[in-house]
Order: sequence, then C-alpha cells, then structure tokens
Amino acid sequence: MSKKRKVNIFLLVFGVVNLAWGVMTILSPTACWHGYCWDQSAYNIPLGIGISLLGLVMLLLSCRKGQRDYKKVFICPHCETALPLAEARDGMCPRCGTPMEPLEGFYERHPELKKQA
Ligand SMILES: [Zn+2]
Repeated sequence: MSKKRKVNIFLLVFGVVNLAWGVMTILSPTACWHGYCWDQSAYNIPLGIGISLLGLVMLLLSCRKGQRDYKKVFICPHCETALPLAEARDGMCPRCGTPMEPLEGFYERHPELKKQA
C-alpha cells in the first residue's frame, strides 16, 4: 500500500492563470486577439476582481492540499503498530513507547520486518 502525496497542479496552474487574467481584465479592459476585439470597460473592475478572487481561491486550495497530510502514517518498529501521526503522541508508540517511524519507506529501512508471503 503506497500513498503518494499529491500537490494539486491543476488548481495551482488555473489559480495563477485566473489571477493573471483577472488583473489583465482590470488593467486593460479593451483588447484584441487574433482580430477579435472586445471592450469590457463597463464592467472590467467587478469582472477582474471576480476572476482574480477565483484564482486566489484556487491557489489557496492547491497549497492547502499540498500541505495537509492527513494520510501520513507512522509505524512502530518494535510492535509494528501503525497509526496516523496525529494519534502517535510525541511520535511515540502508545503501546510500547518506542519512537515511531514514517510508514513510507519503512520496510526498505527494515527489510527484516517484511512479512514473508
Ligand atoms: Zn510499539
């Protein structure tokens, strides 16, 4: 069982794009692109702020997902009790008091503990 930490690239990229787009909408409400011109000067401020806020929210969400790691599991090398980090007080095993280690890569560091099939 391997759980990979994922930074939400989708939200990060779209957050940056929306933020830039919103700022551009505020700064230059009239623009031409490949012969197609538009004029948003009547509503560029609320529109730009709205798009920027959307981008900001996406950025915040992407960062939060990257930082929070609810699934980080620790395991005791002595009795092999596995726990989420939040439940292992001070990183100690609640059953035998041994300092716990991250489950990720645990059996690579302790190949002798690997269960034989
Ligand atoms: Zn233990």
